[in-house]
Amino acid sequence: MGERSKIEWTDSTFNPWVGCTKLLRARGAPSACDFCYAEKWAKRSGQVGWGDQPRRRTTESYWRNPAIWNAQAPSFQRRSKRRQRVFCASLADVFDNQVDAQWRADLFHVIRSCDQLDWQLLTKRPQNIRKMLPSDWGEGYPNVWIGTTAEDAESYQQRVPYLLETPARVHFVSYEPALGPLAELEIDGSRPHWLIIGGESGVRSDLIRLTDPHWARDAIAECRRLGMAAFLKQWGTYRNNPYVVETGHSVEQAMEIDPPENGKGGGKLDGRLWREFPATANS
Ligand code: SF4
Repeated sequence: MGERSKIEWTDSTFNPWVGCTKLLRARGAPSACDFCYAEKWAKRSGQVGWGDQPRRRTTESYWRNPAIWNAQAPSFQRRSKRRQRVFCASLADVFDNQVDAQWRADLFHVIRSCDQLDWQLLTKRPQNIRKMLPSDWGEGYPNVWIGTTAEDAESYQQRVPYLLETPARVHFVSYEPALGPLAELEIDGSRPHWLIIGGESGVRSDLIRLTDPHWARDAIAECRRLGMAAFLKQWGTYRNNPYVVETGHSVEQAMEIDPPENGKGGGKLDGRLWREFPATANS
């Protein structure tokens, strides 16, 4: 968790604390939390319990990293021709009810002061966002993008309205793991700016839940229609890859045409990568 992230849509990750509680869904519907990679990381590292266990705040020296990146931002921007993106948080949820409110206040203080970084806050608890934002949030800090996860159409319809009612420079949705088709992306005439799409990864192969390439194709077509940016991050497994599922290639052949460097399980759809970013983001 640090300066260089392997996650395709960000540059760096920052975890102000670690630990979280899995979200169950009504009627036993599959949840994006079911195979939480952060929980696996926590068990492996032994650093924190999960669920009702106390969250663990990361160290003071780790908390100084964003200020260092912020000071180095001019050279990042010269090199990359854009601003550095920071994903917060990959091993926790910023809008978790079980987190000390002072920790979140400290986090927003860092976010506000590191204004040369674009902060990407992704939550599965969008219903908490508005009540947990700092009092000076106004129309949204210009350096913050806010997103929520939606693994299928039902969770999209439940969570995205909370996201869209929150003022923010960029609204985004992470459709990962994609566990069902999405259908409508527009809600009451509003839409997010950006959709990230991805298949499930890091799960035992007999447990992995598959993504139908048509779901991604339909979601991207809907993004085109609505003027949203689409980012297909990965297929997660070659068992989802369209070269295998749709055009009858073997996994080995698919790996040559669409190598793992394009994302786990490859990342191409209809012969190309989809790596768009929202036009309203800071350049
Ligand atoms: S919200 Fe994210 S970090 Fe928390 S349990 Fe679910 S997948 Fe894991």
